[in-house]
Amino acid sequence: MTRFARLLLLLSLASNLEAKDADIIIKNARIIDGAGNPWYRGEIAIRDKRIAEIGNLSPGTTAPIVIDAAERYVTPGFIDVHTHCEGDFAKNPEAESFVRMGVTTVVTGNCGSSYADLAKAFTSHTQLGIGINMASLVGQGTVRREVMGNRNRDPVTTEIEAMKEIVAQAMRDGAVGMSTGLIYTPGTYTKTYELVALAGEVAKYGGLYATHMRSEGGEIEKAINEALEIGRTNHMPVEISHFKITSPKRFGLSTMTLQMVEEARKAGQDVTVDQYVYTASSTGINTMLPDWAVEGTTTDVQNRVKDPQQRAKIVESIIKSRRDEGGRPSLAYAFVSNFKADKSINGMNIVEIAKKWRNSDTWEAQAETVADIVTSGGASMVFHSMDEGDVRNIAAYPWTMFASDSGIREMGQGVPHPRGYGNNARVLARYVRDTGLLRLEDAIRKMSSLPAQRFRFFDRGVLRPGAAADLVVFDLAKVQDDSTFEKPHAFSRGFDYVMVNGDLVIDDGKLTGKRPGQILHGPGWTGANTASSTAVDHGAKGVVPSKANERTGTKSGRKRVSTTRGTGDGGRGSGGDRVGADRRDGRQPRRSPDAAKGPYPTWDAPEENRYLRPF
Ligand SMILES: [Zn+2]
Repeated sequence: MTRFARLLLLLSLASNLEAKDADIIIKNARIIDGAGNPWYRGEIAIRDKRIAEIGNLSPGTTAPIVIDAAERYVTPGFIDVHTHCEGDFAKNPEAESFVRMGVTTVVTGNCGSSYADLAKAFTSHTQLGIGINMASLVGQGTVRREVMGNRNRDPVTTEIEAMKEIVAQAMRDGAVGMSTGLIYTPGTYTKTYELVALAGEVAKYGGLYATHMRSEGGEIEKAINEALEIGRTNHMPVEISHFKITSPKRFGLSTMTLQMVEEARKAGQDVTVDQYVYTASSTGINTMLPDWAVEGTTTDVQNRVKDPQQRAKIVESIIKSRRDEGGRPSLAYAFVSNFKADKSINGMNIVEIAKKWRNSDTWEAQAETVADIVTSGGASMVFHSMDEGDVRNIAAYPWTMFASDSGIREMGQGVPHPRGYGNNARVLARYVRDTGLLRLEDAIRKMSSLPAQRFRFFDRGVLRPGAAADLVVFDLAKVQDDSTFEKPHAFSRGFDYVMVNGDLVIDDGKLTGKRPGQILHGPGWTGANTASSTAVDHGAKGVVPSKANERTGTKSGRKRVSTTRGTGDGGRGSGGDRVGADRRDGRQPRRSPDAAKGPYPTWDAPEENRYLRPF
């Protein structure tokens, strides 16, 4: 080889090295940055799980994978802040029902129900490998059950202290905040002062308070005020979950309830809301029973409904609350979605089932039918209880996020609410494209940068250099939520490429089976290497209360400092890589001596057993 030829070879090798400087390039894209700005044309280069360049790439940039977006929109991956994924990743680690509608991050642990041990759950999810990113709240109901069981009484001091410590530990384990489900036991038994005390622990670590309120109909003003009070007392952000109006007598009230949120913001309180864009809700049948009937275990509840005297009272209460107070013409708004004892009634409403089982459609027959279902093992339900006007009103509010309120759907299982397959697609198809309620860029903002800011995922939810490479490529003309109440088991369409941390989980419309998801830890996370994460005296040696500007770590001597409360991201962006490390050494047992008496129902119980109070 001549000198000249050798030089040429070296040069071409060098340029090859230089040329392969991205992992994936997306070209011919209409880029929507997620911050609400208008789309613009450009290219995106992905390198090492992050967006390396955007707009006009450096000349000569190449990558082994080049995606031609062909004028489709490229947006940040959607962040679904209200989900119930406990236990679901084990069955469906790729989370197909979510990625098929563009969701790349979920926040689970909502409505008061979470994993009891978040550190353990995060480790097992990391070991399993998950298709999308996951963060979690700590559920107040879960914590209370651990300490007190499903009991209708106030806690004694030692119980309050035990619950506070579990909440604090969950924050150190990486929870993003605390959730409540105040229409479900034991949330119904929990008074405001107790919630203030527990939420105070969350505030110390910079977390937020997310709440399924005590009422979403008749007493919604009171319920909003309670949420605001908890946030105000603790100087912490409040997220009102699945904001809605459920009582026919109160349809149209969303204008006033949104005004309450606005007034609170004007007064200096950090409060936002989220919503699923359907006029039906979904939960367990026990929510139709009165408070007193649902205390204790599933067997306790069933025994009460079987007792003739108590059953008569329950039937009376169902009629009174729905017909007399709620203004409903019948229970035809209540559909059974999953009744294990007799699948033939799945998809039927209570009136239809009353006719089938009791040959009658009187109010008494309908309420008795509800009681029959409860004594036969219960069922999950879909309640067509809202008004489209309120749904649109709330969707249009600038600080509303879109969230599914769903777990990972299992194809063919039951007749679940379609939101788990379609929520984000429905926002784009129905409320952006077909009815023009929302501008596309604004709808995307509400699914990306708004939830990212809210839950402190500061390196996500936007398409900017340095941000985590979670993104979606879709054709707005083709996006559709095919899942319906009648036939829910259908994935959304139109999302051709979905990328999570720089890996394609949907490639040209096909699920790749890759699992690039990370655990996203909350602001109080003490990190993977703090073996002695048992520092209970956080007031003195551990975390300094929130108003201080500096925060120290745990007894292990590892020190973390954040400039202000809530911005202590602690390297969370890349933190997922470190989750697998063992940090359970020396941990104190979570259960209080009282709780050890169990067994109490766990929050891994079937859905219908978790939800135990009427709305
Ligand atoms: Zn809820």
